[in-house]
Amino acid sequence: MRAVRFHSHGGPDVLRYEDAPDPSPVFGRAIVGVRACALNHLDLWERRGLDRVKLPLPHISGSDIAGALVDPGTSRLAPGTRVMLQPGLRCGRCAMCAVGRDNQCVEYDVLGLQSDGGYAELLSVPVENLIPIPDHVDDETAAAFPLTFLTAWHMLVTRAEIARGDAVLVLAGGSGVGQAAIQVARHFGARVFATCSPSKADRTRALGAEDAFDHYSGDFSKDIRRVTDGRGADIIVEHVGEATWERSVRSLATGGRLVTCGATTGTAAKIDLRHLFARQLSLLGCYMGGKPELLRAAELFFRGILQPVVDRTFPLSDAAQAQQHLEGGSQFGKVVLIH
Ligand SMILES: [Zn+2]
Repeated sequence: MRAVRFHSHGGPDVLRYEDAPDPSPVFGRAIVGVRACALNHLDLWERRGLDRVKLPLPHISGSDIAGALVDPGTSRLAPGTRVMLQPGLRCGRCAMCAVGRDNQCVEYDVLGLQSDGGYAELLSVPVENLIPIPDHVDDETAAAFPLTFLTAWHMLVTRAEIARGDAVLVLAGGSGVGQAAIQVARHFGARVFATCSPSKADRTRALGAEDAFDHYSGDFSKDIRRVTDGRGADIIVEHVGEATWERSVRSLATGGRLVTCGATTGTAAKIDLRHLFARQLSLLGCYMGGKPELLRAAELFFRGILQPVVDRTFPLSDAAQAQQHLEGGSQFGKVVLIH
């Protein structure tokens, strides 16, 4: 098969479009002909090299995948069935797996992290990761869905326990996870506000944000107080990290919950402990989510209630340019490789 691999860590130039061995049939697994694979910041971290995770090299990235079954394995689905993939991999035997908390499994992994992912023509996955998609959903939109919407659902619904009427502030509302969070929060009846660059403000409001604040030049902690009669946000959806952390904490209402799933701009963060206890704040770390959460979100996706935004598609052979486009930060929505 053809695949995009890297043999050493570095810049986009280490990505090579080349021949790679086809995956072999394995009991309990299916082989998917990949048609679309959406990029995530995780792909960039993998390529640059991760501090705590050693990747087998050469490596094929890609966690957000849609395609058609080439070998259905033991899945009982017909060859050619169109699917998107649940991106989490789990042991299936432990107590956390038994209650659907896949992402707390000690063996938890993400497609394309420790194993090969979707920057390839073919991919072997456990049959439990297959989610059939209806005809009206196209490949690139399906590939743009799983990781960001699973993460946003886990953050807002499971961790922050979103309730009707909550004021939710979504950082970087124009990003993949930001757009997902805006839509999920709106679905649950929250008042939604977002930060973004001024060039993305109109499109961010069109997704369901009541107002969009400039996170480069402004102080969004003042903006959110202005629109909530001085209270601040009940929930902050953080994934930007160092550049916005202090303003995010200041934006919280008393009793507010900050949920975070990333640190795109840096990992160092401070907090004044007096604010943490006196204002009764909750800081909630989030990483992916469980398959039950993804299936609940997927049902709303298939009904057109949740809708990922595709910024731009690139052919698989141009994966390096696609990653540069994501690194540039000008995208609105997901960047997707197709073939
Ligand atoms: Zn497990």
